[in-house]
Amino acid sequence: MTPGTARVLGGPPAAAALLTEAGRRAGRLPRPPHLALVRVGEDPASVSYVRGKAQKAAEVGLSSHVHALPEATTQAELLALVETLNADPAVNGILVQLPLPAHLNPEPVLLALDPAKDVDGLHPANTGALWNNHAGLRPCTPAGIMALLAHHGVTVAGQRTVVVGRSALVGRPVAGLLLNADATVTVAHRATPDLGAVTREADLLIVAAGQVHLITPDMVRPGAVVVDVGIHRVPTESGKGRLTGDVHPDVAQVAAALTPVPGGVGPMTVAQLLMNTVIAAERQHARAPHPEVSGEHVR
Ligand code: NAD
Repeated sequence: MTPGTARVLGGPPAAAALLTEAGRRAGRLPRPPHLALVRVGEDPASVSYVRGKAQKAAEVGLSSHVHALPEATTQAELLALVETLNADPAVNGILVQLPLPAHLNPEPVLLALDPAKDVDGLHPANTGALWNNHAGLRPCTPAGIMALLAHHGVTVAGQRTVVVGRSALVGRPVAGLLLNADATVTVAHRATPDLGAVTREADLLIVAAGQVHLITPDMVRPGAVVVDVGIHRVPTESGKGRLTGDVHPDVAQVAAALTPVPGGVGPMTVAQLLMNTVIAAERQHARAPHPEVSGEHVR
């Protein structure tokens, strides 16, 4: 290939397609899918993320409610809210925005979620389903990456893929999704010796290491497809800072295709969250007794 011509795998068109599909499927349901967004405290990033999710939900015809709890909320109060939302048939999806304030333990909260409403896909019932390739709700960023690749026509089946990072949020689940999609998968992490030797094996390289410009051109096989999940704000002379990823921009001179940062994986996460809410609602409606059918006919 000609150096410097990596195809840009843009997130916005792929996210728009996913949102259109979510809106279309939401419109076929008896009522708009409802997403409960739970936030504790006033962490500015969490406030902004939750507001963005609610706005996007409204744009595609989903209903949502932000349950904004005070910073001083106790573990018991948060668990009680989760139980209430679990039991409410009008709620199809529940998202508890992380991180929680330091005095709250996220683990019991995650475990308390009804897996059928766990639209973040992080409950062990859903991660177990992912690893067994059974139906379940998939974590948003990894599922969004798969949707992005599909949108741009990138072949996954049969490819040698390397995932850099093994977090519960990105690395592990994306490795599971690639495996389910018939890729050959290697997972590298901070204890992997000679990372470049491993990444150079990849036809498809997914990088979620949280390290600025960890992947340099010499670590990429010419013609590989590279997905950069990392997001970092780095200082600039103007003082405003700019966003960059885990992959050095010069990788564009070696790779066949590359997701940009910003404008790559980022927009996929919220789009997939809303698609997950639609999927959860579809499954709940399919399971619920039809209102016009009396109890004794429902098996
Ligand atoms: P994390 O810190 O939980 O995990 C990082 C992983 O990378 C670890 O498993 C670690 O072993 C591995 N790693 C770290 N340094 C390494 C090195 N030098 N060599 C090889 N492996 C190394 O991070 P995360 O939550 O998985 O997020 C990763 C990045 O993706 C972050 O920059 C984060 O901001 C970004 N992110 C973006 C989105 C999005 O929507 N685009 C969503 C989630 C995370």
